[in-house]
Amino acid sequence: MSSTQNLFTIQFWGVRGSIACPGPETVRYGGNTPCIEMRVGGKRLIFDGGTGLRVLGQSMLSQMPVEAYMFFTHSHWDHIQGVPFFIPAFIKGNCFHIYGAPAPNGATIEKRLTDQMLHPNFPVPIRVMQADLNFNDLELGETVEIEDITVENALLNHPGEAVGYRVNWRGYSAAYITDTEHFPDTLDKNVLQLARNADVMIYDATYTDEEYHSKGSSKVGWGHSTWQEAVKVAKAANVKKLVIFHHDPLHNDDFLDHVGEQASQQFPNTFMAREGQTIQLGRAATSNMVSVEEAKITV
Ligand SMILES: [Zn+2]
Ligand SMILES: [Zn+2]
Repeated sequence: MSSTQNLFTIQFWGVRGSIACPGPETVRYGGNTPCIEMRVGGKRLIFDGGTGLRVLGQSMLSQMPVEAYMFFTHSHWDHIQGVPFFIPAFIKGNCFHIYGAPAPNGATIEKRLTDQMLHPNFPVPIRVMQADLNFNDLELGETVEIEDITVENALLNHPGEAVGYRVNWRGYSAAYITDTEHFPDTLDKNVLQLARNADVMIYDATYTDEEYHSKGSSKVGWGHSTWQEAVKVAKAANVKKLVIFHHDPLHNDDFLDHVGEQASQQFPNTFMAREGQTIQLGRAATSNMVSVEEAKITV
């Protein structure tokens, strides 16, 4: 039995919302759009295919052949643009099980990933991908079982709809909740359900409350939440560790440091998602990882 079969790790390959924003101002937290890899009991789960998926794909080239379970929250560009550049999908012998809920117009995840690669928007069609691609349509509220791993989903409040996920394995759990907008007067039941007692909750905290309610440029109705709401959910759902995620492209590294300081004052186990960082659940941390108990904000 390989050592990875007793581990539950979460690695961040893209943490930025809306659009990739590389540059000197974002180098510490990273500029790639959402992609999270979970290694759970020897299985590889991937959440979203933003530009971070390209980087994950490069890291997988030394591990061929690979099998992974890919879950998409929705198909806004920042969550799918890495797919056409995901090299392992072009290599025969690899296998990807792809999951997503149909869009409100009925379009399946297969159709949406296929369409983004059609002329004249992209030169190479998806059929050129030589890996085994198995597409699966998710029903809202359905639980997917992958041996002893279960993956729950629930609808989120987002223009065009998105779904959040929760992964459970041997008493450990991690919730991935993006893109979502909070309600003005009540906590979202679906969010609380996904986050309940989770070891880790990754949450869409694109804005600050001040930006969200800004008189001149309100973000109400844009489909995203704030770090202050993230703290409320984390407390209400009895989450062990809160991960602030889907950073606004306008928030540079210093700004995000400041968000982390403020959030950790209100919820000490807060962690600002950074490209390349790994959180480990379930076993003692090794040198390049941050355990769920020991992770601290670095400022
Ligand atoms: Zn997004
Ligand atoms: Zn979105």
